[in-house]
Amino acid sequence: MKLLEERIRTHGKIREGGVLKVDSFLNHQMDVKLFQEMGKEFLRLYQDCGVTKILTIEASGIGIACVAAQFFDCPVIFAKKNKTKNIAGDVYTSKVESFTHGRVYDIIVSKEFLLPQDRVLIIDDFLANGSALQGLIKLVRDAGATLVGAGIAVEKAFQPGGDMIRGMGVRVESLARIKSMSVENGVEFC
Ligand code: 5GP
Repeated sequence: MKLLEERIRTHGKIREGGVLKVDSFLNHQMDVKLFQEMGKEFLRLYQDCGVTKILTIEASGIGIACVAAQFFDCPVIFAKKNKTKNIAGDVYTSKVESFTHGRVYDIIVSKEFLLPQDRVLIIDDFLANGSALQGLIKLVRDAGATLVGAGIAVEKAFQPGGDMIRGMGVRVESLARIKSMSVENGVEFC
């Protein structure tokens, strides 16, 4: 998606360690008009898939997922990062290793909201090593719901997540795919 690529080029900030900061338009300050264009694009890609729920993960995925959900006319569920040790039996749970914070945490979704008859589109801001997406996929599978695919804003295609998840037979559509990036040379898209 050219609009998103252009914004990354002009406003993204590359940090050491392969981290792209997009705080001015995507995951701190949020450009809702840009999100609307992203939502329309996700709809164009997945409109024939009968999506009944969008699933994302707190916090950065929520804004993008909510704007997209207006186009799909369906609810959004966000997986919560669990803070308590005891996980009650009324939730689906999985583990995610944080790329940006370097630690493992549990994510949970209430069984009440993710149902076997649901057709789920997962939406997230970044795909890097694929741990967040893998964790979300497990929640969908544990619920016995149908996974329609994943819609990602920024895929860092030089990291293994995209290949791994596609290798599991999951459809992944990313609006901007970064082939390489460095402080010296900037961002190159696929
Ligand atoms: P993964 O689990 O695929 O390694 O990483 C996905 C999650 O890590 C995303 O939900 C996102 O919040 C965060 N993340 C991964 N890479 C980046 C990055 O380069 N920049 C930012 N801002 N977040 C990232």
